[in-house]
Amino acid sequence: MIELKHITQEYDTADGKGKFFACKDVNVHVKPGDIFGIIGRSGAGKSTLVRCINLLNRPTSGSVIVDGKDLTKMSESELREERRSIGMIFQHFNLLSSRTVYGNVALPLELAGMPKDKIREKVMPLIELVGLSEHVNKYPSQLSGGQKQRVGIARALSSDPKILLSDEATSALDPETTQATLQLLKKINKELGLTIVMITHEMDVVKQICNRVVVMNKGVVVEEGAVLEVFRDP
Ligand code: ADP
Ligand code: ADP
Repeated sequence: MIELKHITQEYDTADGKGKFFACKDVNVHVKPGDIFGIIGRSGAGKSTLVRCINLLNRPTSGSVIVDGKDLTKMSESELREERRSIGMIFQHFNLLSSRTVYGNVALPLELAGMPKDKIREKVMPLIELVGLSEHVNKYPSQLSGGQKQRVGIARALSSDPKILLSDEATSALDPETTQATLQLLKKINKELGLTIVMITHEMDVVKQICNRVVVMNKGVVVEEGAVLEVFRDP
């Protein structure tokens, strides 16, 4: 489903005088239906790597194969199309405060030029799926953190993606809300068959819902495998 081959990402150092590797020769293979965890400390290169999957980051070298297609060989306009099959959710939700729950979930479809009645047919079931039917006309400021993340999830699903990328999606949530959000992601993985790639710095999150994991440190993969093996008690 996703193959990251020899991904290297170089950046200038903060003083602008040198270079450093945010990712160095990283190889990752995500299979269809995986809930794939990427774990590591802050600065390990997790976001850089995951943003290569939808080419929000263009890696310095390496190839990104999604569904058999090499995204690194595509033009910006071809990429725009491919990105529609990859949804993303974020730690701070990235919702528009001037738009309601409905308006936020509808936005990607409006931007894609979908007619209003079609949008409604699409948006209402998604809002129901994430359990926000009662809140459809509320603004983000009227929602709890967990509810905001549900809006983010519904919005990410609006373009029928095959892959969902999650960048620390539960890090701003309390333990109980984290649980509920993880259960929702599990349900989406199971019922919609979505492949999920999730970044986290929390071991527990990985143990709970991921089947495979890579551990990153300083831009390299230090461990990869089935969650049960990687976190086996010694
Ligand atoms: P993580 O997600 O594991 O916290 P990141 O991928 O965000 O790690 O960052 C890895 C390293 O790359 C960090 O040292 C970060 O400061 C640096 N970095 C990330 N993006 C950029 C950028 N656009 N320009 C320069 N350095 C960056
Ligand atoms: P705005 O303030 O820009 O209208 P909203 O989030 O209220 O932002 O709505 C965005 C779009 O979605 C608008 O075109 C609006 O007509 C439509 N819309 C909002 N709520 C609903 C709803 N419950 N059912 C159908 N369409 C809606």
